[in-house]
Formats: sequence, C-alpha cells, structure tokens
Amino acid sequence: MNDQDKAQRHATRMARKKAHIDQTIQAADTDRGVLLVLTGNGKGKSSSAFGMLARALGHGMQVGVAQFIKGSNDTGEEAFFRRQPGVQWHVLGEGFTWETQNLERDIETAQRGWAVVRGMLQDESLGLLVLDELTYPIKYGWLDLDTVLTDLAARPAMQHVVITGRAAPEGLCDAADTVSEIRDVKHAFRAGVRAQPGVDL
Ligand code: ATP
Ligand code: MG
Repeated sequence: MNDQDKAQRHATRMARKKAHIDQTIQAADTDRGVLLVLTGNGKGKSSSAFGMLARALGHGMQVGVAQFIKGSNDTGEEAFFRRQPGVQWHVLGEGFTWETQNLERDIETAQRGWAVVRGMLQDESLGLLVLDELTYPIKYGWLDLDTVLTDLAARPAMQHVVITGRAAPEGLCDAADTVSEIRDVKHAFRAGVRAQPGVDL
C-alpha cells in the first residue's frame, strides 16, 4: 500500500469513528442527578470525589461534604474547601471501630451523622454531595443499607451524590449510576513512605 492509500484508509476509518462517537454523544441527552460510587483498594477514591467538588464549585454550585471516618490527620481538602463559600463540611465519624472500641457509640455516631446527611439530601440548593468513606458504617452495620438507599432515592432530581470507600456493598453499586473500582497496583506506603501532605492528605 502506498502512502496515499494509507492516508485515505486512515481518513475513512477516522470518519467512521467520528460518526459513531457523535451518535453516542447525541444519544446521551438526559440531565439528572447522578449517584457515583468510588470503591476498591487502590488510592484515589476520596481525592477524585473532592476533584468533583472543585468542579461543582467552579460551576457556581453549592455543595456538601459528610466525612464518616475522620482520620487522625487533617486533610488539605478540608482546610481548603472549608475556606470556600458555598461549602458545607460535616465531620460525622470519629475513627475506625478498632480506635473507638465501643460499638454502641459507633452506631449512635453513625446514625446521628446520617440524620445530617438526610437533611442535605432534602436540600435542593445543594448540587453535589460527597459522602466520604460511607461504605464503612454500612459494612460494619452501624447504618442500615435500605435506609441509606431510600433516602438517596428521595433526593432532589438534579442532585449528584458521590460515595467513596472500600468494599462498597452490592446493593449500593446496584443503585448507583456510575461505579468505579480503583485497583491497588502499588502504593509508596509499602516501600516505607509515610503519608505525604498534598498527595495522601
Ligand atoms: P485518597 O484520599 O488519596 O484519594 P483513597 O480515598 O482512595 O485515597 P482511603 O482508603 O480512603 O483511600 O485511604 C486514604 C489514605 O490511605 C490516603 O493517605 C491514601 O494515600 C492511603 N491509601 C490509599 N490506598 C492505599 C493502599 N492501597 N495502600 C496504602 N495506603 C493507601
Ligand atoms: Mg478515602
């Protein structure tokens, strides 16, 4: 095949590809609130959720954050987003169960936290919510999955919700519109690098 034939074949293939892509884009013409689940053992779930928070603020939306597991380190996101107008930031968890070592208290804390989330899920002015590490209180049985799903389903039609955390329950993934599972290929921590500000917190 000479160069001219090659160029022609390439152009034809690209035209076909463009027609297909254009058609797919045109077919997706619905606007509505989306439920996203970011799960898996790899790094990048919460930071991706906070990336969407920044996007939403960039579009002038009002947003809410609920953090269910508060680590011992304050994160850069919390410091940054708390300074921005249009952000509600709620720390609703205390720590991992092996830190609090009190099941009754964990259940009480999680349920009090969910009441705060329910309020945000009923607030039409909030365009995007991040429910960070929500999978854990569900997994440990502190929060009832059906209650969570019912409240999510009743939220305003245009409200987006991003849920992060490892081991997302199947029922939550079934209810979600978008589910990404981040795979752990390697992490610097295992080579002895401690959590780095700006990267890990
Ligand atoms: P990030 O907040 O960086 O997006 P994440 O939300 O995906 O991470 P979490 O399970 O919430 O991950 O853990 C948060 C912290 O643990 C971060 O400091 C992150 O770098 C670290 N981490 C995440 N995944 C791993 C892993 N596979 N091995 C070791 N440390 C990890
Ligand atoms: Mg996280």
